[in-house]
Amino acid sequence: MANRVTFIGAGNMAGAIIGGMIDSGYSAGDITATSPDDAMLSPLRERLGINTATDNAAAVSDADVVVLAVKPQIMHQVCEGLREAIQARRPLIVSVAAGLPAATLERWLGGDLPLVRCMPNTPSLVGAGAAGLYANARVDETQRKQASELVEAVGLVEWVDDEALLDAVTAVSGSAPAYFFLMFEAMEEAGIRQGLPAETARRLAMQTAFGAAKMAMASDKTPAELKRNVMSPGGTTERAIEHLEQAGLRNTLAEAMDACSARAREMA
Ligand code: NAD
Repeated sequence: MANRVTFIGAGNMAGAIIGGMIDSGYSAGDITATSPDDAMLSPLRERLGINTATDNAAAVSDADVVVLAVKPQIMHQVCEGLREAIQARRPLIVSVAAGLPAATLERWLGGDLPLVRCMPNTPSLVGAGAAGLYANARVDETQRKQASELVEAVGLVEWVDDEALLDAVTAVSGSAPAYFFLMFEAMEEAGIRQGLPAETARRLAMQTAFGAAKMAMASDKTPAELKRNVMSPGGTTERAIEHLEQAGLRNTLAEAMDACSARAREMA
């Protein structure tokens, strides 16, 4: 793993990654997190034993990796404040901020920096994230590995070689937890309509999604084959799948994902 890692911002995403790093054996003494508000820092300091600081620039002065984990709206101002210290040290920069292009971040930090842009998703908060990563041309192999290891502490990492593909990652995984939450909602409602208690329907739907994902990940069969395997001719599953296909679920999903990545492009 990387040597000294400083997180700028100590909120949900930083806390999740730091917790994952420590669980995977990273030394707490090599991790620093910053926030202007010490109240955000004390739980991390006390629970995880990491270093904390309220001065961003001082906290990056000996960092090998700097993770930018503040809200996109304040990133410009935060980068301005870091520029001098970053240019003096030239660490690997990893940004988890939604929507901010690598070149913009690099420019705000004074230019000529190795920078990895990461599109994570909210299940990272429970160690089951899925993230797309893009590295600019200044990132070397060792730094790529450092970035992978950091983000793998909270889930799956997939690299893309074209930054524009992070918009597709946003559609496939970044925004996608909500698609499944919508499915849970709809399945719970339908279960209730058929007479099940709400909690029963909810638990069954969620466990089934979890089981289906686990089964698909453990199998070398494609999702299409797995689906065929549970569809006996003339059976209940076949009836349900035929209905979903006829109602256009496949197209609806594709259109929703196109709308999602189009919105990501607009926001960049
Ligand atoms: P958050 O609000 O939980 O945390 C933001 C942190 O930044 C807080 O600790 C705050 O004290 C700190 N902060 C504010 N001003 C600061 C400053 N000047 N210097 C240093 N720290 C400062 O936000 P979050 O959900 O952790 O999101 C952080 C980033 O992660 C965002 O850019 C967001 O786009 C990205 N992200 C988050 C998620 C998610 O699931 N939460 C998913 C995808 C991307």
